[in-house]
Amino acid sequence: MTTAMIIGGGVAGPVAAMALQRAGIDSVIHEAHPGGAEDVGAFLTLQSNGMDALRAVDAHRVVAQLGFPTPVMRFYSGTGRYLGAVPNGGTLPDGTVSHTVRRADLHRALRDEALRRGVRIEYGKRLVDAQPGPSMVTATFADGSRSTGDLLVGCDGIRSRTRRVIDPSAPPARYVPVLNIGAYARGVSTSARPGEYCMVFGRRAFFGWAVAPSGETWWFANPPRRDEPTEQELAATTSEQWRSMLLGLFAKDRSPAVEITDATPGPLRGWAT
Ligand SMILES: Cc1cc2nc3c(=O)[nH]c(=O)nc-3n(C[C@H](O)[C@H](O)[C@H](O)COP(=O)(O)OP(=O)(O)OC[C@H]3O[C@@H](n4cnc5c(N)ncnc54)[C@H](O)[C@@H]3O)c2cc1C
Repeated sequence: MTTAMIIGGGVAGPVAAMALQRAGIDSVIHEAHPGGAEDVGAFLTLQSNGMDALRAVDAHRVVAQLGFPTPVMRFYSGTGRYLGAVPNGGTLPDGTVSHTVRRADLHRALRDEALRRGVRIEYGKRLVDAQPGPSMVTATFADGSRSTGDLLVGCDGIRSRTRRVIDPSAPPARYVPVLNIGAYARGVSTSARPGEYCMVFGRRAFFGWAVAPSGETWWFANPPRRDEPTEQELAATTSEQWRSMLLGLFAKDRSPAVEITDATPGPLRGWAT
């Protein structure tokens, strides 16, 4: 049987393994993190075409149970002026719309579904190199171990080492000069209706939020930042430092950004895009 080595067990890795399995190809996922970075990250929106892609591998139901539908985006200016609404992706023939989910829940559900279908995941395996042979490819990992397979599939995110190994001249991911912060606030009452994302082009930074069925406000902010921060700098920034930066950036906007930030217990963590 043809075997594949999938590099990266985030969101794409388990889905690729399930898709390959349907084509009769057995996969082992090699994930760099020792335990899959289970609870890292905030939330993301899976557009309806993403839900459709999951349907192709019969994994859409496990994801549809997570999070909540967000088919509409409403936009405001920092002065509080309503700018308009647009659909947040299309609607599939069966009524499926975009879904906003915690990244950790999405990752866990897809990983568990892949495991349930017999896919193997090896943790602590950071790909550093790969060598094609006459019929097989050999992958080398940072811990010195090796693995062979018929195929090497890169699902290792935007800074993919697999892509670099296969095509060293491929352009690297480019830093977009804004940071991302996403978190959850409690006890805030805003004008957002269920199923809507509200987004504000603030005077100094972009802000968005949606209200989950639990009543929690899920929000994100994009503070501008010209140069790319290092991982160490991001990790060393405390919740209170993020909070104080956001409160300063949103102080002059007519939006609930300040109230939402204040009502967020944290922890707050930012990352570069
Ligand atoms: C921990 C984490 C938290 C995130 N949180 C958010 C969020 O809150 N909101 C949001 O919008 N997006 C978030 N993202 C990004 C988002 O998950 C992805 O951009 C998107 O889901 C695409 O999925 P992906 O599987 O292609 O990449 P990713 O989800 O980035 O997964 C890539 C996987 O590959 C692994 N990997 C990387 N390099 C190697 C290597 N050399 N060898 C082996 N494995 C490797 C990583 O550890 C990771 O598990 C997060 C990503 C990660 C890894």
